Amino acid sequence: MKNAINRQMMAGNWKMNSNSEQTREYFEQLIGLLSAGECEVALCVPYPLIPTAKEAVAGTRIRIGAQNCHWEESGAFTGEVSAKMLAEEYGIDLVIVGHSERRQYFGETDETVNGRIKAALAQGLEVIFCVGESLQQREDGVTNDVVGAQLREGLKDITVEQMKKIIVAYEPVWAIGTGKTATPDQAQETIASVRKIVAELYDAEIAAGTLVLYGGSMNGGNVAELLSEADINGGLVGGASLKAEEFAGMITAANEL
Ligand code: PEP
Repeated sequence: MKNAINRQMMAGNWKMNSNSEQTREYFEQLIGLLSAGECEVALCVPYPLIPTAKEAVAGTRIRIGAQNCHWEESGAFTGEVSAKMLAEEYGIDLVIVGHSERRQYFGETDETVNGRIKAALAQGLEVIFCVGESLQQREDGVTNDVVGAQLREGLKDITVEQMKKIIVAYEPVWAIGTGKTATPDQAQETIASVRKIVAELYDAEIAAGTLVLYGGSMNGGNVAELLSEADINGGLVGGASLKAEEFAGMITAANEL
């Protein structure tokens, strides 16, 4: 535990994977392997699996989250689910917003990300707010500018108090699901810049107290070196979070730091 708010988190993003039976088996295995410790554990699962997942983790320290929410409470938005529905129907208190796959495949913009964040906060949800640059942007040397703009736009009109419910996930797009991980130095450098921008937008205390995760092909083999960087407080894990044994090992690695 090395950050100012004494928090560390390993969050899984199952994306559009799994079914009820696999979910029950997964949590039985994960709970059996979960090491004692202070690292917070969350799994963001597809909407239909939320009830099964919640039932499976009842009485444990594992939190279940969602992967997206809409900015309106209800209305003509076919296929969408509101933050209000997540809170009221599923009892969910955590949601991912602005994942690069949402930005890439579903037209998510900084403006819609901002709306979704506000809606989630209005329902009392904690938000994992994803930012990250493309390969071209990294090669062009504009990573910090791109991530900075995503932060400024995504956090528009978010108050100091609300910022305390925001977890930032730095996820370089080129590292998501590709097996290419940012080096610990690259992740640390960008996350330090994330904190600098949060300090500019809010203050140094908020910046130091914001939980910032790294995401992008994090796995059992690279988690320890990534988490040993000063500014990285945990991980947002896609592929590797689908394997209970590997994810449990990653949580143990975090607990041991
Ligand atoms: C993600 O989906 O947020 C992610 C980081 O995926 P992966 O770990 O598979 O790269």
